[in-house]
Amino acid sequence: MDALSFVIVGHVDHGKSTLIGRLLYDTQSLTPDKIEEIKKASTGQERRTEFAYLLDHLEEERKQGITIDTTQVFFKTPKRPYVIIDAPGHVEFIKNMITGASQAEAAVLIIDVADGVKQQTKRHSYMLSLLGLKQVIVILNKMDLADYSQEHFNCIAEDVQNWLKSIDIEPVFYIPTSAIEGDNIAGKSEKMSWYTGPTFLESLDFLRNKQFAEDKPLLFPVQDVYKVDDKRINVGRVETGCISEGDEIKILPSGRTTNVNSIEKFLENTSNATIGECIGFTTVDSVFLERGNIVCSPSNLPVLTDTISANIFWMTKGNFIKDMKLNIRCATQETCCRVESINKKIDSSTLEIIEEDAEVIKNLEVAEVVIKTKKPIAVKDFNEVQELGRFVLVQNENICAGGIITFGE
Ligand code: GDP
Repeated sequence: MDALSFVIVGHVDHGKSTLIGRLLYDTQSLTPDKIEEIKKASTGQERRTEFAYLLDHLEEERKQGITIDTTQVFFKTPKRPYVIIDAPGHVEFIKNMITGASQAEAAVLIIDVADGVKQQTKRHSYMLSLLGLKQVIVILNKMDLADYSQEHFNCIAEDVQNWLKSIDIEPVFYIPTSAIEGDNIAGKSEKMSWYTGPTFLESLDFLRNKQFAEDKPLLFPVQDVYKVDDKRINVGRVETGCISEGDEIKILPSGRTTNVNSIEKFLENTSNATIGECIGFTTVDSVFLERGNIVCSPSNLPVLTDTISANIFWMTKGNFIKDMKLNIRCATQETCCRVESINKKIDSSTLEIIEEDAEVIKNLEVAEVVIKTKKPIAVKDFNEVQELGRFVLVQNENICAGGIITFGE
């Protein structure tokens, strides 16, 4: 099965590093000599320092350019491999997610039960909502500091639930843990027999891979067209569905219909390709495709529009002033655009509305906007097809905002 990638977010000191360290240790993802090394380095200190140390140690290695890359931590369960995408800062993370540099399919929100829901907890979870990352597991950590009390767990879980509901996130699980002691991480906690749900590790196996998009109709943004001999090979990545020789396809924006002649895969002879595969294909008649075209199944067309409603996250120091000219990039499509109206501006930490009908957007502000594009672009609901539901705004080749299309919601 394909690896599932997830991000762990939460207020600083609520136990993220310890959780990752414990997870790697308990899933035997570390080599024996590394464990030995860590144990040695931790000698004389309390056992509890070990796990936080582990991540520091990995970070140190990363800095030295050796083996482990802490921005991508790998481990496995018997069901499938996992990748933890590290989010050094939320701006970086949003940038990476929106630009597609890293793709979390799920998120883990960690909360210290002794500390409760904090500003950063809110900011981070709001960010998940903004990014449409709605597959969320909530870890209520440091249960050892709350005497493993069910009552305390319920009380904090209720707070978290109320908050998350207000931003349209319904977590799949709330799990009481002590990352430091290993309770409910890989093994069931004996100290919390009142909890009958899965351990953290078990809960991960319930998450759905993005893979499910395989059942959806074809969407294939054209990245480039290679001319080889007399063939025109249209290359790109199958974002949803699959493509086979003979399939009828529609090309947007022209709306022209044709059929697939051949599938071209590097060093492979094949007649079809599925989601996630980077391939080329030729058409039966000489249709001229170009970068930015969206190839799709005639049965399920994206919306072709020049007006989109979206939530954008401004992530550059320079202010955005209404009517400023920008470029919009959505999948491989790119065209000039104008932000026509800024209906509402929201403080990403408090969710408070700062201003309605605004003229300026500043760094780290989230805004509900209407964008007018010069040429129509093919878009989809973000929750259905992320690649056609997310975009970036570009000014002088710098990405200054990322956005998620909200029309139709
Ligand atoms: P991060 O900033 O979220 O990565 O948090 P760390 O993993 O660095 O943890 C912050 C502090 O909380 C460290 O001193 C950890 O030892 C401690 N800590 C983490 N998890 C637990 C836990 O389950 N119980 C207790 N008592 N302390 C914990």
